[in-house]
Amino acid sequence: MRYKIKELSFLGKPLQKNTQYVVIGGGIAGLMLGFFLKKNNVKFKLIEQNNTLGGLLKSHHSDFGLAEQAANGFIWCAEMQEICDDLGLKIALPRQISKARYLVRNRQLKKFPLTALETIKMVGKMMLPHPPTETIADFGEQYFGKAFSQQLLEPAFAGIYGADIRNLSFPGALSTLANILNKSSLLPLAMMKMRFNAKKNPNTSKKRQTSGTHGFTNGMSEFVEALAKYLKDDIELNVDGRSLKDTKENLIITTPAYVASDFFEGETKNILQKVRYTPIITTTLFFNRSALGQFKDGFGCLIPRNENLQILGVLFNSCIFDHRVKDETIVSLTCIMRDDSENLSLLQQLDLDIKNLLVKELDILFDISEKPLYYHIFRWEKGIPLYSPTLYKSWFELDDLLNTNYPNRNLFGNYTGQISIRGMSQSACKAVSSIGTF
Ligand SMILES: Cc1cc2nc3c(=O)[nH]c(=O)nc-3n(C[C@H](O)[C@H](O)[C@H](O)COP(=O)(O)OP(=O)(O)OC[C@H]3O[C@@H](n4cnc5c(N)ncnc54)[C@H](O)[C@@H]3O)c2cc1C
Repeated sequence: MRYKIKELSFLGKPLQKNTQYVVIGGGIAGLMLGFFLKKNNVKFKLIEQNNTLGGLLKSHHSDFGLAEQAANGFIWCAEMQEICDDLGLKIALPRQISKARYLVRNRQLKKFPLTALETIKMVGKMMLPHPPTETIADFGEQYFGKAFSQQLLEPAFAGIYGADIRNLSFPGALSTLANILNKSSLLPLAMMKMRFNAKKNPNTSKKRQTSGTHGFTNGMSEFVEALAKYLKDDIELNVDGRSLKDTKENLIITTPAYVASDFFEGETKNILQKVRYTPIITTTLFFNRSALGQFKDGFGCLIPRNENLQILGVLFNSCIFDHRVKDETIVSLTCIMRDDSENLSLLQQLDLDIKNLLVKELDILFDISEKPLYYHIFRWEKGIPLYSPTLYKSWFELDDLLNTNYPNRNLFGNYTGQISIRGMSQSACKAVSSIGTF
């Protein structure tokens, strides 16, 4: 086998029948897990240290429109549909005008950024078999060549993980593709198999709605609030889960890794403490549409590092969903930046300086003639877990350590194998539905 793949992004002994659990952490991972536990009549309580739920997820409302502090939506899957159907929540579909996606090259928005020659070279490389690769950067260079890697792969992964592809594990961040490449080292064949498998899977074919990012009319908080209401009798707020660190009860720890480490000793603690997070700043800005001379409708644009801009990508919120702005005369843009500095100097800049930097860069892309009407900045020193080759290896090590030394503890969250809401909903469902079948 070329790549070792973990079937489940849920670490530790499989969940057991007739067992009570304590879920630590009321972020979206803990809440979705709570949903499937409750639905399957597994006894549990959920403990959250804050007096609110949702963790990273929160929607902020202003006079001009809505700003998400983390995820702005999710990719549709049967598990998310199941949760929403049971909660009576209507999923908001993406607007038609969000179909176009752009990449920036030479400071201009393009639907496909490669030249004809670069495309021919890319296709040539793609047709050949290649040895296994450790990082996404290696994968990109081997299978598609330098231009594709720099202009497409690097900005695409920076948009999802906030990270540099040289630091992202290929089997860790692209596990489905890596698993398919285990069956054929020829990428076109592997991709055909992937499509064929997706069509065969009733969860991804029949019930599938539209592609693209889905959301909720009132933002991601609507999802969190509906889950909180469904689980209200099972949740205790304002309790630090670490007060249970010496308990013999069965704990499912869904906090970030740097908090989870406090529940363990020795090598397990050590591995969790070493999980790195990428510092991220997201800023939502509202402009009069008439102030953007060059704006194009679409989902957003991704910006490769060789453009020498700080912004990694811009989401065109008002194009993606209805009700993101007060009215159609306003445009809402969310800019994502990563702080690569040693001393987190970007993260510490004043709001005004960050706003000015963003407006200057947005002006290059969209020809801006007026100040933003309003802006909202969210800073995450430990924003997104870095899916590095070290993190990828740690899933197997942690699984072994938990099974051997901590059979009554599980780890689950956005650093255990699936970073997205879609991926975590699928893992939570699978982890619970495996009860009794092993
Ligand atoms: C800027 C940004 C944009 C994103 N965009 C998208 C997107 O568009 N689509 C998508 O699918 N994903 C997106 N993501 C990823 C997704 O939002 C996160 O992976 C997800 O919200 C993380 O959920 P979590 O429950 O694992 O962690 P968290 O949200 O961090 O939740 C952990 C919870 O544990 C609690 N906790 C911590 N310590 C304790 C303790 N001692 N005792 C009890 N409780 C404790 C915390 O208070 C928190 O509620 C984005 C992430 C970021 C940062």
